[in-house]
This record gives sequence, C-alpha cells and structure tokens, in this order.
Amino acid sequence: MKIELPTIQNWNCHSCAGCCTQHEVAITEQERQRIVDQGWTTADGIPEGLPVVKTKGPPWARQHLLNWKPDGSCIFLDDKGLCRIHAKFGEPAKPLACRVYPYAFHPAGNKVVVSVRFSCPSAVENKGRSLVDQRKDLEELGKEVVPEFAQNVPPPPVSRGETVEWRDFLRFVGNIEDDLADDSLPVSLRLVSVLSWLKDVERAKFGTLDGKSLEELLLLLRQAARSEIDEDLESFGRPTRMGRLMFRLLVANYARRDTQGVNTGGLRHRIWLFRAATRFSLGRGNVPPLQSVFTEVPFARIEEPFGGIPDEADEMLTRYLRVKVRGLQFCGRAFFGESLVDGFRALALVVPAVLWVARWLAAGEERDRLEANDVARAIAIADHFHAYSPASGSRAARSRVRILEQLDDIRRLVAWYSR
Ligand code: SF4
Repeated sequence: MKIELPTIQNWNCHSCAGCCTQHEVAITEQERQRIVDQGWTTADGIPEGLPVVKTKGPPWARQHLLNWKPDGSCIFLDDKGLCRIHAKFGEPAKPLACRVYPYAFHPAGNKVVVSVRFSCPSAVENKGRSLVDQRKDLEELGKEVVPEFAQNVPPPPVSRGETVEWRDFLRFVGNIEDDLADDSLPVSLRLVSVLSWLKDVERAKFGTLDGKSLEELLLLLRQAARSEIDEDLESFGRPTRMGRLMFRLLVANYARRDTQGVNTGGLRHRIWLFRAATRFSLGRGNVPPLQSVFTEVPFARIEEPFGGIPDEADEMLTRYLRVKVRGLQFCGRAFFGESLVDGFRALALVVPAVLWVARWLAAGEERDRLEANDVARAIAIADHFHAYSPASGSRAARSRVRILEQLDDIRRLVAWYSR
C-alpha cells in the first residue's frame, strides 16, 4: 500500500532516552522468547533479581512487557542513556514497538498515512532529516506494522451516525488541514475557525453530497466561519465555571506521569493522586506538582495573561495539529473509534491543555511570559497522554469533550489560554 508521509515533519533519534523512561513497552510472545534467549545477566548491567520481561493480565489476555528498573526506566537502558539490546545485537533485535516509535501508521482507504508522536522532544522541535527523505526506511517499517486487512478498514464516521466513503472522508481531513496551514491568523484562531465550521458539519446530512459538491460545500462553510472570527482573543470571554472545572481535570490527566505506563502504583500513591485531583477540581490554592518538572504555583496565576503564544511555539502547535490531522491520529481506530468531529474537538483541547501546562512551567520559573521552550516541553508532556492512555478514551473523557462543546467552552478555552 502507498504510504503518505507528513511533508512538514523532520525526525531522527537524538538519544535523549525519553521514550525508554516514560513508556511501557509491550512485546509479542516471539519477542519475549527472543529476548529471553539473548541470555541477559548482571554481567550485562541488568539489575540483580529483576527479570527482563514481565507478564500481566489474566490467562486469556496475557500481555508481555519489558521490565522497568526501580527508577521507572526500561531495564535495557544503560547509564549513558543507550539501549543495551541495540548495542549488543543491533537495531533489528529490538522490540518492534521501540523501532516504530515515534511513528504511527493508520489505514486510510487505499493508502496508509503516517503520524508522529510528539511525546518525543526531537519530534516537537522538528529535529533531524525530513520524513520524506526517509521514505524507504518508513516503507520497510510499514511492512512490519500495517496489517493485511488495512485496505478493508472502513473510514471513521464524520459525526455520530454520519458516514461517507474514504475518498470523501479525506476531503474533510484535507479541508481541516488547509485551514490549519493558513498562517494569516495565529494558530488559536485557525483552530477556532475549524471548530466553528465543524459545528455545521455535525448538523448536516451528507447522503446526497459527494465529490465536487462536497468540496464546494466545505469551502463555503470554511469561508463563512473565517469571516465571522473576531480576532480579539478577549472577545471570546472567560470559559464557564463548569467548563473550567472540567478542563482542569483534563489538564490533571495530561500532566500525570503515571498515565504513561510507568509503575508509580501503591495505595499511598493512589491516595496522593486522589488528593491532587480534589485540588484540581477545586482550583484554589496551589497547583499540586504531578511530576518532578512542576513546582507549586497558585491556580490563579495560571489564569492571568502570559503575553500570547511566541511565534516559534505557534509553528510547533500548528505542525502538531497538522501532523495529527493528516496522519489521522485523532479519530477512528487511532482514537478510540471517535468520529472526525468529536475526535477533532478532543484534539483541539490539547492546545489549551498544552498552554496551561506551559504557563505552569513558566510560572514555576517566576516568568510572566511564555517562551517557546515552555510550549515544547508541554507538548511532549501532553502528547504522552493523548490517544495513548486508555483514560483519554474513557467514557468520562468523551462525555467531558461533549459537555465542553455544549457549553461552547472549547473555543473559549483555546482563546483564553492563548492570551
Ligand atoms: S528496549 Fe531499548 S529502545 Fe526499547 S525501551 Fe528499552 S532501552 Fe529503549
């Protein structure tokens, strides 16, 4: 199958070891056997008494995982931040999950589209070679990960109960991306504009519309939404009280490290987490630091303007959204079966969540203006959660997105935290 790559994205591994310290690595039975047969011992630097592989789940749904060291990093990560399997047996000997990261392959009719996980800091900063120049390697990787039935995967619904063929589904995707790519407006206003016309899409029935007529309708909806945009971010007003509460709970999920598979378990941790969630829901006093990168800052401080989004960060957020949209990493199989409209709303909420976390980082360093690096760090933190933690696809998370939309708070949240 043809593979479509994001032309605006560069990437190469810069050995930061972030992925090896923050993700749990699921492996197949074959990979488990291969790793066991490699005969790892303490002489290789494996901590005494720890098996290299562990198994979890009931007998009918067993899952094999690479084990972690007590600090939460992969058992194969050495002191220099390098992979012991790679060093001893070469890259092909590593589990497929490690070799695929940070790419994600998604079926899109008669092709496969590639998205990128921005939990990798090199992806956020666009460091490395263009993906287009790495086509050959990505095609080889694609052969290993794209299942044979990919061509038969149906498109996600456009909205609840409304489906179209792949060709037309990709017209919606292309129109969203075109709007996001138009840099005559800041990213937050482009996002607001797409959210506006998707409201009309949600109300429409597309049964008799396809091809050129659908394209024309989408263009009209986009133009109408664009002409109605008020460029004054303050004019959107403050999100509602209920909206702010739900949004803080969402941010708490995005900022939690233990949603990324790192074993921070235990009763004490759960009690601590419950208390932290209570503080997030109240939104008073100081924000409890959910990871070591955060410090306690007043909730009220984060609600104040932070000087807008720096240009460099605008580019990062734009690229983030475009890569996720074009790579279909926001709906369908890649996002818990959600429709294009609901999945895009959930993706749009990542932007204010990132800006909230970026403000938290900036306030922790006693700055009252955002820097691009705050946003870069916040994107990497938030993207660990979005679409990957089961919590981001839970019933509660989906209904939160729907309620925020009914309150018309998604657009307000985007504007409010872009000030
Ligand atoms: S096996 Fe190697 S590449 Fe994979 S998570 Fe462990 S250290 Fe990282």
